[in-house]
Amino acid sequence: MSEEEIKKPEATLASAPQNSASPASTRGEPDERKYATRAPRRPRFGDRRRPKPVVRQIKVLRRDNEGSAEDHARAGATTGLKIIHFGGLGEIGKNNMVAIQYNDEIILIDGGLGFPRQNMPGIDFSIPNVGYLAGKENMVLAWFFSHGHLDHIGAVPFIMHKVGDPDVYAAPLTKALIMRRMEEFKDRKPLDIEEFKAGDEVSVGQYFKVKAHRISHSIPDDLLFEIKTPVGTIVHTYDYKMDRDPVNDQPANLEELKAIGDRGVLLFMGDSTGAEMEGHSLSESAVTHDLEKLMREATGLTIVGCFASSLNRVQQVITLAEKLGKKVVFDGYSMKNNVEIAKRLGYIKIQRGTQISLEEVASCPREKLVAIVTGAQGESNAALMRIANGEHRFIHPIAGDSYIFSSSIIPGNESEIQFVKDQLYRNGAKVFNYQMLDVHASGHGDKEDIRELLKIIRPKFLMPVHGQYSMMINHGYIAQEEGLPKENIIIADNGNVTHIEADRWWVDKEKAPSDPVYVDGLGIGDIGNVVLRDRQMLSEDGFLVVVVKVERSTGKVNGSPDIISRGFIYLKDNKDLLMQMRKKVRFIVDNNTAHGKDINGTYLKDELRNQIGLFLFQKTERRPMVLPVLIEV
Ligand SMILES: [Zn+2]
Ligand SMILES: [Zn+2]
Repeated sequence: MSEEEIKKPEATLASAPQNSASPASTRGEPDERKYATRAPRRPRFGDRRRPKPVVRQIKVLRRDNEGSAEDHARAGATTGLKIIHFGGLGEIGKNNMVAIQYNDEIILIDGGLGFPRQNMPGIDFSIPNVGYLAGKENMVLAWFFSHGHLDHIGAVPFIMHKVGDPDVYAAPLTKALIMRRMEEFKDRKPLDIEEFKAGDEVSVGQYFKVKAHRISHSIPDDLLFEIKTPVGTIVHTYDYKMDRDPVNDQPANLEELKAIGDRGVLLFMGDSTGAEMEGHSLSESAVTHDLEKLMREATGLTIVGCFASSLNRVQQVITLAEKLGKKVVFDGYSMKNNVEIAKRLGYIKIQRGTQISLEEVASCPREKLVAIVTGAQGESNAALMRIANGEHRFIHPIAGDSYIFSSSIIPGNESEIQFVKDQLYRNGAKVFNYQMLDVHASGHGDKEDIRELLKIIRPKFLMPVHGQYSMMINHGYIAQEEGLPKENIIIADNGNVTHIEADRWWVDKEKAPSDPVYVDGLGIGDIGNVVLRDRQMLSEDGFLVVVVKVERSTGKVNGSPDIISRGFIYLKDNKDLLMQMRKKVRFIVDNNTAHGKDINGTYLKDELRNQIGLFLFQKTERRPMVLPVLIEV
């Protein structure tokens, strides 16, 4: 997520540089007037810095529907139905998780992780913020999973100890993928998962009844949930497309879904990913046709780069290889893992003798082999990159081999993919682009898919989920075109507590904790935005340590200040700058201390940081992190 909406400035961020063009306060709090009565500050280093905090602050003009006094009074008596998203709103493909609460009973759907953006050095991933559940653990009765993708199941090992002890439900493949993920975290308590397939129904507590329905996606076992509550039915679906002719899967049962719509749906929550793409998402069977053409034209060894999570696409490649009389080999950690799990459960069908091991590659004629590998996004250590660079132990590239990129480019990865492509062409390979293949065949439905499902479900209220903000809004537009009044479309933020009644909805003034929690391999949740900003600064401009001894009695600098830097400029070659800096340090200390007076260490360090920072910026146009160390002697 690149923007955080409606975020009050945190204490930690308040000290971050902000200029007047980026209003930090929301909802007209009177901070500005307070500042205006103060004497103007001296210019500080921070003022010159273009603000580049990790969390950008957006002035939100939209007001949430905060409900009337009567609404709140009514909610005080019996809380009724509430929806709280812990992640996945206003951000795509990350931290998907939602709580549905009725009085003192809560059910959860999914618990996904998010991969870091490029400007988050050292962060491995983020997980949903389940802070809302603190103190309510005993209310959590059940946890359902929609499908096995990491943005829906990946955070389970990190949050399971914070959600109480719910019954866990997942379809067989999803269950196997969660179990495999848990194996990597052996210290966690084992998770007991009940199989819950399309068509299954379960009563939860005294208020909920949940039924699973089949829906199409890029992986088998994707579920849509029909959730009956005392106020009405909720239909919830994360990732889906309306594929009438899916590969390796049965299509959704439209009659069954229509029947839900006929019975009346209070609230629909649905995937917004494709809401800005015109038309229908292409059926996977249409992709088969193009893929077959490419695989027939391929010469030499065929290497197909593919998402390990797109198991249906993997199945297509296997089937085509068999049709063309070729063998297949898999490589890439997640690819081998997922294929093995899917094979064991019968979700991937492969004839005896088709699959060979990496060791057997050398003895298989090149033109009779298809390698299905990870790395279609140009990931630097994935199998495809290792093959392209000639670093793979078993698969050695030669001129005339054919590479097929079978997944569309995730925005932001263009330059990496370009790099791999150049590398491949350099080695005389043929490269077939995703553009020739499947611009519109993602696992997510486009506008017309979304419209189709809305027409079937016909909800009273719509809450778009799983998408950037613009996608959620556009999801709302599609619903309006289909006659849903604007007031019935709920655009929520992570952490909003949304009350749904039979004929109205409104949002609590108080938000649940919603900052994403970062995991950096060593710690969970101890990385805040300030730490990230520091890492960003360090990675760009390095740091500089100023060690200065000050005589307690006179307030004068003792000896020459020590200046050490890393990742900034090579100080030995910049003697002038070093000298000027020492002079400056002396000047700052002299100006801020007096004979016989106590030294205000904190203030002096701040002055050193700001003024040396400003000085260095004027001289070098760089902004290293300045760390003053004050030693009183
Ligand atoms: Zn997803
Ligand atoms: Zn998915």
